Amino acid sequence: MPVNMDHHWLPFSNNRLFHAEPQMFESAKGVKYWTPEGREVLDGSSGLFTCAAGHGRSEIAEAVYEQIQKLDYTPHFQRAAPISFELAEKLSGLLPEGLDRIFFASSGSEAVDSAIKICLAYHKANGDPQRTKLVSRAWGYHGVNLGGTSLAGMVGNRRDFGGITCDVVHMRHTWNEDQRYTRGQPEDGAHLADDLEAICQTYGGETIAAVFVEPIAGSIGTIVPPVGYLKRLREIADKYGILLVFDEVITGFGRTGAAFASQEFGVTPDVMTMAKALTNGAIPMSAVAVKTEIQTRVIQSITADRPELMHGYTYSAHPVACAAALATLKIYEDDRLFERGKALSDTFLDLVYSLRNLPQVTDLRGYGMMSGIQLKPGAAPGEKGSIVQRRLFDEGLHVKATGDALIFAPALVSTEEELTQMTAILQKTLGDAE
Ligand code: PLP
Repeated sequence: MPVNMDHHWLPFSNNRLFHAEPQMFESAKGVKYWTPEGREVLDGSSGLFTCAAGHGRSEIAEAVYEQIQKLDYTPHFQRAAPISFELAEKLSGLLPEGLDRIFFASSGSEAVDSAIKICLAYHKANGDPQRTKLVSRAWGYHGVNLGGTSLAGMVGNRRDFGGITCDVVHMRHTWNEDQRYTRGQPEDGAHLADDLEAICQTYGGETIAAVFVEPIAGSIGTIVPPVGYLKRLREIADKYGILLVFDEVITGFGRTGAAFASQEFGVTPDVMTMAKALTNGAIPMSAVAVKTEIQTRVIQSITADRPELMHGYTYSAHPVACAAALATLKIYEDDRLFERGKALSDTFLDLVYSLRNLPQVTDLRGYGMMSGIQLKPGAAPGEKGSIVQRRLFDEGLHVKATGDALIFAPALVSTEEELTQMTAILQKTLGDAE
């Protein structure tokens, strides 16, 4: 039956083009989608970096079904259900040591805005209410709520929303033309973290609340941090009493080889955001993890009988999302998926780097199970990415395009054969001269 497409306004989409040439998925299993016409499309971006354990996991479906029947909803303002504490405890066991207090929300964007407010509340509780400025990075993506839009370093995401943003200063991005085709971490570039030092000198370190970075910049097309860069950021943040926030919405849950990129790169932030693969994408859920002392300080700053953090969502720690997350974390553990992703990474990156000499490719970047394929630009910025993304769908591969880059990041359950099939479609499509 034809679908009436008049009423749903698709996000981050060209709705006019979509209506002319709809590209829809109707079902999914493992690393495959099927269109309503029954055509198979391989999933080269784990949905949207969500479905690390592959689609259609019955363990998650069953947990969700049971939870809805048992307790479909509970408010979390002065109320709770045991299941959210169970999830928070489980998560804190996966996180870097010291990050063991968890605030829940429903999307990456909500997690980022919650993290901003927690940082501001911490400084206020600490007697530093003047710390209101935030630092982030050019080409960064931190979601689309107002705080995240302010932090955004992807210009297109800020440009149309002047007047609503808060006080943010941007560091430079770490991509370097001379290091194109670097596999893993570029050797040169740790000095770019000194931008934070320069910002502290210019604005006064005592005015800055937090610095937000994605350990690997994901949405711009996988930009891997240079060796020593994150460590240097940590040192400068410490020197000036600034909170270091890692936005691990994409890099969390085994994408880089460890549970979190923080562990993979050996640098512990004060605050971490996560979402997407927390529930394998099946139910919206996100979280902010903070160091124990951050929560303690905020809680202890209030003696009156009122909430210490005037922030929260109707769907914070939704019991059904908690059930989905617990089932997902069990899959990660039982199937040793983070180890599997790490073991698969070499084969995956060999395949990615086999695309090096194709006419449409101008740079390749990759780490763990995520990669960026930079395309020769078209007539207008982003046009080539869009055209190639549509062409790939027609050839049987779903890959997220961002500007003129593709983010190729398959599920951690992919087989070598599936990865080879996906790469063959990329070879064919990017092998065209135009
Ligand atoms: N932060 C990062 C690093 C992301 O990559 C994303 C989404 O891709 C977000 C935040 C926003 O997440 P959501 O789209 O769930 O709001």
